[in-house]
Amino acid sequence: MSNSVLPTTAVEISRAVRAGELSARDVLEVHLSAIDAREGEINAFNLVLADEARAAADAVDRVVAGGGDPGLLAGVPLAVKDNLCTRGIPTTCSSRILEGWRPPYDATVVSRVAAAGAISVGKTNLDEFAMGSSTENSAFGPTRNPRDTSRVPGGSSGGSAAAVAAGFAPISLGSDTGGSIRQPAALCGVVGVKPTYGLVSRYGLIAFASSLDQVGPFSTTVADSALLLEAIAGHDPLDSTSIPDAETGAARSLLSVLDDGVAGLRVGLVTELMGEGIAPDVAARVRQAAEALAAAGAEVGEVSIPALSYGLSAYYLIAPAEASSNLARYDGVRYGMRVDADTTAAMNTATRTAGFGPEVKRRIMLGTYALSAGYYDAYYGKALRVRTLICRDFAAAYQNFDVLLTPTSPTTAFRFGEKTADPLSMYLNDICTIPTNLAGHPAMSLPFGAGADGMPVGVQLMAPALGEATMFRAAAVLEAAAPDLSEALQ
Ligand code: GLN
Repeated sequence: MSNSVLPTTAVEISRAVRAGELSARDVLEVHLSAIDAREGEINAFNLVLADEARAAADAVDRVVAGGGDPGLLAGVPLAVKDNLCTRGIPTTCSSRILEGWRPPYDATVVSRVAAAGAISVGKTNLDEFAMGSSTENSAFGPTRNPRDTSRVPGGSSGGSAAAVAAGFAPISLGSDTGGSIRQPAALCGVVGVKPTYGLVSRYGLIAFASSLDQVGPFSTTVADSALLLEAIAGHDPLDSTSIPDAETGAARSLLSVLDDGVAGLRVGLVTELMGEGIAPDVAARVRQAAEALAAAGAEVGEVSIPALSYGLSAYYLIAPAEASSNLARYDGVRYGMRVDADTTAAMNTATRTAGFGPEVKRRIMLGTYALSAGYYDAYYGKALRVRTLICRDFAAAYQNFDVLLTPTSPTTAFRFGEKTADPLSMYLNDICTIPTNLAGHPAMSLPFGAGADGMPVGVQLMAPALGEATMFRAAAVLEAAAPDLSEALQ
């Protein structure tokens, strides 16, 4: 390769490829070498698509050579979470139950990134059906945190976060139902965004909890997440919850606001998510981030959002309830694995018993219980009422603040096995991320220095529905002010 200093961000790569200064194939080979060198240790991928990626990169190069423009993501290697359907390519959700299944269609986000010239390098590992916070629930073994392989990368999109942190691809796609993009982004030291519910199509995203699920980007820089989100956002008639383009407006043009600064922006530090349960080093970094925003001209204050304290409990009824319904389709007839038995009912049971892992079974049982006659009102119904209270409390907070600031995860990356014996301690990881899923609001995590153990700390920015542009303005300021990972905590 003639160019010794290869650009590392999606923004730079696509610019150079579109200008004919860099070939997509050369960019790809560098990333495939990085995968070869470290994937054995990291296990970010369920499947690496080297041949398909080479063909796609060559096609991009031919478009450029012919004077055409391959698009916004020209020649940018991208990793795709393995719960997004890819036509003809195994899509497993890291579950045995989908063994051998190849989707007959692409998820809308997968078609959109391909149409924008991105090069898909593979399908990334996750907690089975996106249920978990560490990727330890994958049927194919956990992903390891590239910054310290004795620690988890977070989850459920642990493979997509690790792929970006390890330099396997500058950008990746994940899904976030209760924090599955933001929490692994925080633990791996990268940027991760959960868009407003309905901004990005869910068509072809294998459903976990449909009223909460949303697809979003991972990247190393705020600008790259803005770029990828611009490429995937927008109305899709194939998703009935997709917001019409006429209503999304500014939420879809993000790159242009990154230099706008935060002068006069009202930033609220959420009291409920700064105290008990949050590690002191993580809280210290969040305070430091608040100071950085204030130094850049924002008006920083504290805000109490009382209903947030009930977010975790409401989520762990609503998400399993929806999951128990969504996962009923894996019956041994329609998808993947079948374990034969004498009757259809016995075949259903044998297939589900063999095909689902313990966490998925736990969620199906919790959800079925919460929805059952006699318990529906006490559990599911009550959780829905709490969800409404959370939305109201957020609305009140956003009367006085433009964005909210919290930790993303209560701790830095923990070690393998530390929380697997106690599901509740694993669920507590999601305390800061869940509220925005319940409200349908956008939120993002970005790295802000290291904790006491030297591992990355993520700070979370939240905004009201379709407030992405404001959120990204604040993110760009925080990115510029972020302490280096090697800097000790003050
Ligand atoms: N960790 C949460 C859970 O286990 C969130 C998962 C997700 O966002 N997909 O449900």
